[in-house]
Amino acid sequence: LDLKAEDLMHLKELGAGNGGSVSKVMHITTKTLMAKKIIHIDANPSVRKQILRELQILHDCNSRYIVSFYGAFMSDADISMCMEYMDVGSLDNIYKKNGPIPLEIVGKITTAVLEGLNYLYESHRIIHRDVKPSNILVNSKGQIKICDFGVSGQLINSIADTFVGTSNYMSPERIQGASYSVRSDVWSVGITLMELAMGEFPEDFDDFVQQCLIKEVSERPSPNELLKHSYVIAAEKSKVDVEAWAKGINR
Ligand code: ATP
Ligand code: MG
Repeated sequence: LDLKAEDLMHLKELGAGNGGSVSKVMHITTKTLMAKKIIHIDANPSVRKQILRELQILHDCNSRYIVSFYGAFMSDADISMCMEYMDVGSLDNIYKKNGPIPLEIVGKITTAVLEGLNYLYESHRIIHRDVKPSNILVNSKGQIKICDFGVSGQLINSIADTFVGTSNYMSPERIQGASYSVRSDVWSVGITLMELAMGEFPEDFDDFVQQCLIKEVSERPSPNELLKHSYVIAAEKSKVDVEAWAKGINR
């Protein structure tokens, strides 16, 4: 399939992130629905050509746990990438609109993400580098797939040039600029799963529980100290209706 901009009909915007914006399109002649990601990079034409070349590896990434790739092309100063359209969307939107994801479903997400990461690494020596809820997609067949992994070294560099700050999902060794490996993705998996199960970013709660579980008793905080923890302060301020919750409990 030789994709061109003029063969695609724009249907709707799906969202935008740091690297670009994504829209739902239809490939007119084959009537295939696709997600088209436009990535804007301030780079010279030879760098952009190299990125396009490197993206071709995506044609060989075939797994039921990886969003499939239809092709990429240059349009003005942008690079467009077309991938499988996942009609239920990404897990960040899913839990934000529907609340925490049931733990049994989180289990299925866990296996899909690990299988996807393992396939990328064992078959292609690719490290994902951006595991997070918005890069895990679901369709109405109940399939769970990962996307937006780092296949093109040049694209990673080009995006890194414009990206400021650190991601909440980055492992400590990566934030510190040390060399990182496929195990750095594992850290991001841990944070991601906790977020999905809790329906919110768990950093505070995680730290709170870790404080409670310090093995060395002399280092473990007292209740008085824990009352000053940011998790407890946020919980005190929360306006949740405990009365409504208690009345709704099955007993
Ligand atoms: P970042 O740029 O930091 O990685 P992000 O993942 O949210 O953040 P994009 O990758 O640009 O940003 O994606 C924007 C949104 O588009 C996603 O949150 C997701 O909801 C939607 N999306 C991306 N790819 C697809 C796809 N293949 N099918 C359906 N929706 C998609
Ligand atoms: Mg993404």
